Amino acid sequence: MNKEHKYYCYICGEEITDANKTNEHIILNALGGHLHSNTIICNDCNVRIGEAADCQLAEDLSFYTDMLKVKKSRQNNHNQVMVDEEGHEIIVNNGGETAILRKPYINIENKDGRKRIHLKVRNKKELHDILTGMVKRKELPQKYVEEIMTKAEIEEFHPILQRQICISDEAFPSIIKSATNYYVFMTHDADAVKLLVPYIEGKADTKDVLYLYLSKTLPYIENNEQVTHMIHIEGTSKTRLLYAMMEYYSIYVYFIVFDKNYSGKDINMTYTYDVVTGKEVSRHFSFPLRFDDLEQFRNQLGQYQDYLPFVEKRVANVMNIWKRHVNQLDLGYVI
Ligand SMILES: [Zn+2]
Repeated sequence: MNKEHKYYCYICGEEITDANKTNEHIILNALGGHLHSNTIICNDCNVRIGEAADCQLAEDLSFYTDMLKVKKSRQNNHNQVMVDEEGHEIIVNNGGETAILRKPYINIENKDGRKRIHLKVRNKKELHDILTGMVKRKELPQKYVEEIMTKAEIEEFHPILQRQICISDEAFPSIIKSATNYYVFMTHDADAVKLLVPYIEGKADTKDVLYLYLSKTLPYIENNEQVTHMIHIEGTSKTRLLYAMMEYYSIYVYFIVFDKNYSGKDINMTYTYDVVTGKEVSRHFSFPLRFDDLEQFRNQLGQYQDYLPFVEKRVANVMNIWKRHVNQLDLGYVI
């Protein structure tokens, strides 16, 4: 640790020392966040806050993390549970290269005095076990077991899978924390983010300061080859607003109000990380928003449906990048 500078935890104000320092990922490691710092948050605060919100955000976005095989410094195995068109649960793993039924499905129908048995199983042994059980329970005469085993066919399995994807309110403190992490990392000005600490700690309603961006355009030039996490912080005394813009997987964009009565010096800094290549990329733009603009986004929430095609276009782009890596499954997604 650099002895010439003193650093203070921006959450609790304690001086950061060799004894209480911790490696804080600016953007969650679970989302592939690469940038980290041991001079912004103390270990106590790191342990005490954010765990629930961090986990929620990681889980809400896990579809993209898993499918894009995003590199993390602490790698853990995580599989997506999705449903096929018949409602059967399917476990999708290895970045979407393989899919297996989560469990066998048995459906027995009695129709016109005849018994119809529908089975969906993972392998021959499972089929045999299920049939043997049915014989024991006198649901099936023994003589059919052999016949069914012989006739059973292994099907090429290409289900259309669906998964609901949205970021839940419980994850919002984690989004705010990434924005303040970056700001303090760059400026070491903890005072400027003081008002945001209760939101990160889950003690105040994040809707006071967090806005979903509903727009048909983005303030920067999109690069269809990239899937990015981005933190952009901008403020001028002219607009009176200091804010952060957070982007996850080139799809989800939020704004966080740092100061709606800003009178400090002009600030414009952007950190953009491409999760596909695992490299920081250069992105510079100016988006001089005023607080009224953010209020406008909130007023438009009722017309969310109008914006869905634009969000879906961005999702489709991410999925196209993924499809170049794997071609086995036809995945569906619902925003
Ligand atoms: Zn602290």
